[in-house]
Amino acid sequence: MDVFVRDIADVLENIAPIEYADSYDNIGLILGSFHKKVKSVLITLDLTEEVFYESIHKKCDLIISFHPIIFKSIKNITGKTFSERIIIHALKNDISIYVIHTNLDMIWEGPSSYISKLLRINREKVLFPKKETIKKLITYVPVDYAEKVRNALFDAGAGNISNYSHCSYNFDGFGSYMGNKKTQPFIGKKEIFHIEKETCIGVIFPDYKLNRVKNALFKNHPYEEVAYEIYNLENINPHIGIGFIGNLMEKMNESDFLFFIKKKMNVSCIRHSNFTGKKIQKIAMITGSGRFGIETAIKEKADVFISSDLKYHDFFKNEKKILIVDVGHYESEKFTKNLLKSFLDKNFTSISVYESEVHTNPVKYFH
Ligand SMILES: [Zn+2]
Repeated sequence: MDVFVRDIADVLENIAPIEYADSYDNIGLILGSFHKKVKSVLITLDLTEEVFYESIHKKCDLIISFHPIIFKSIKNITGKTFSERIIIHALKNDISIYVIHTNLDMIWEGPSSYISKLLRINREKVLFPKKETIKKLITYVPVDYAEKVRNALFDAGAGNISNYSHCSYNFDGFGSYMGNKKTQPFIGKKEIFHIEKETCIGVIFPDYKLNRVKNALFKNHPYEEVAYEIYNLENINPHIGIGFIGNLMEKMNESDFLFFIKKKMNVSCIRHSNFTGKKIQKIAMITGSGRFGIETAIKEKADVFISSDLKYHDFFKNEKKILIVDVGHYESEKFTKNLLKSFLDKNFTSISVYESEVHTNPVKYFH
């Protein structure tokens, strides 16, 4: 079966909705066409010129990059920077470029899940829950049609709370209406006041499913005019957001723990704060740049905070309460390639998916 860029984007955006990305980010298809047929995909953390030439060598039609090569608007493309040269060559060689970045960071199955499996951490919740991810729909349906509408809403992705599906609240009451002469009421007659026994159905749903849920409502509700309300909820989904809090299977002392992550994450050099003298069990982590997470990790009473791009003064913030660890930006995100490959392999059997073999870390360590 033919696979197009659109098909791959659909699978990835179903896993990591584009609505979850940070506002500063630049994600999705950033070069090429959704209608392009794809036979081979190259996955990379960073799109460098070397990675681009690897995509030509491997005859790839699509590059999926975690970090975007275009962040800000470009006024001219003359080849003066590596990203401009990649744009020029991608257009000439008909190679599309797709970015999945902070939207992937936000999801429970994202880079954090890969790292926590690697370090055998039981995750409890995200460190910074994303706000305004849940909406609520209330609608009023003639009693005999309530089941049909409710099921259609569930099929569209409404009614899921943690490990429970098909959640809704229902009660019966009376709705009233009177249509003018232009109407064609499904029940009752135009220009005659009518009272109908109706079921009020309430369901919650993730905000990115708004269109799907509304379509399901309009398609299955029998009335000419559907009465409904949609609300933004303050409720937090503990599984959508940045970073995570979790527990190691067993306690370790601090030096053993550093040795453990060095080995498991294959890191050559780790920067860390003074030891606190406590055993490590509760872990807070943000993959990629995460210096903003130190205070929250302390508030959550984590024994260690692991992230990258920490500054000199950040290491003073431990206050003997927490071990602060910088494993490196590339090192904390390099497993994202494996993760993305597993998503594509699970969903497509007729395309070749390669992880880039180029070591794109721009930071070098002199031993
Ligand atoms: Zn990053």
